[in-house]
Amino acid sequence: MDDVKKYVLTNGLGEIRENRTFKEYTTLKVGGRIRLVYYPNSIDNFLKFHKYYIPLQRPLFVIGAGSNVFASDDDFDGVVVSFSKLPLRYYRVGDNFTCYPGCSVVRLAYDLSRLGYTGGEFLAGIPATIGGAVYMNAGANGSEMKDILVSAKLLCKDGSVKEYKNNELGFAYRKSRLQEEGLIVLEVKLRFTKSDTITVRNKLNELKSKRNSSQPVDEKCAGCTFQNPAGHSAWKLIDQIGFRGYKINQAQVSEKHCNFLINNGNAKSEDLMKLIKEIQENVKREFDIDLKCEWVLVNFDSKSNILNN
Ligand SMILES: Cc1cc2nc3c(=O)[nH]c(=O)nc-3n(C[C@H](O)[C@H](O)[C@H](O)COP(=O)(O)OP(=O)(O)OC[C@H]3O[C@@H](n4cnc5c(N)ncnc54)[C@H](O)[C@@H]3O)c2cc1C
Repeated sequence: MDDVKKYVLTNGLGEIRENRTFKEYTTLKVGGRIRLVYYPNSIDNFLKFHKYYIPLQRPLFVIGAGSNVFASDDDFDGVVVSFSKLPLRYYRVGDNFTCYPGCSVVRLAYDLSRLGYTGGEFLAGIPATIGGAVYMNAGANGSEMKDILVSAKLLCKDGSVKEYKNNELGFAYRKSRLQEEGLIVLEVKLRFTKSDTITVRNKLNELKSKRNSSQPVDEKCAGCTFQNPAGHSAWKLIDQIGFRGYKINQAQVSEKHCNFLINNGNAKSEDLMKLIKEIQENVKREFDIDLKCEWVLVNFDSKSNILNN
């Protein structure tokens, strides 16, 4: 990896951090060592890096705010890319906002409310970057990324860059074409509607207080753990098997919301994995329902052996 570090630094492509951990880069605060973290200083320089790195056939993972990522305790002997140090977050022309992948959607939601634009209030409670939000088609309170996205410029696995329109992105519930094809978000165009500042701010505050009262937002977690199976709520099934508050070491089912698994301090990924398996097995035994984990699993091999979305 010294060659990769040297390539980035001698060509001025951005910053490098060595020997970090997924604990530092995820909201669950678990996960093993990362050999290199690369922070591109421009999209063009990221593309240069990508062209150099891909033929090396080493692992690559793009991380946003790490709010949906569950990494194993094992070492990751590759590069994690973070767009959090790109100098530009977004710019606006009329009602169109062009956003770069490291842009925080919470920050965008508050900026929109100050400017009096409606349509982005749902973003205020999702601790995501634009890149992660598009990849996951993140959503809340009946709205999702697909409702505000006009188009996205994406990097394909073969190194080509293409602009995709909304209807070409295969959006469905927490799904997108990006997941199927390993596409990387470089730039996103979003459109919002002009309203007035007070109405937008009131709606944003209302959604925020609803979320704060129902979810363990201050805990180390990664959002909802399981997808809701058709016709059921995952939290109710977990509550009904008696798992509210249930712990394995420092991994725990939240007392506040049973579909949130939390790291109570120093949990290991292994503890969270055991907890997921136990919940899936008990729900299957009790109700004959398969609960699927909706977190993005990183650096696990087949030994994880859980149902994943
Ligand atoms: C307290 C809390 C509340 C949450 N509430 C919600 C909610 O209401 N609704 C909801 O949908 N989710 C929610 N989540 C989950 C999470 O915030 C979303 O899934 C979010 O979209 C993840 O964005 P991220 O930037 O953190 O991406 P990460 O978690 O860092 O990554 C998620 C996936 O996106 C990929 N990715 C990141 N950036 C890029 C990029 N530039 N190009 C391509 N792929 C990329 C990663 O490789 C990974 O596969 C919540 C999480 C927490 C902790």
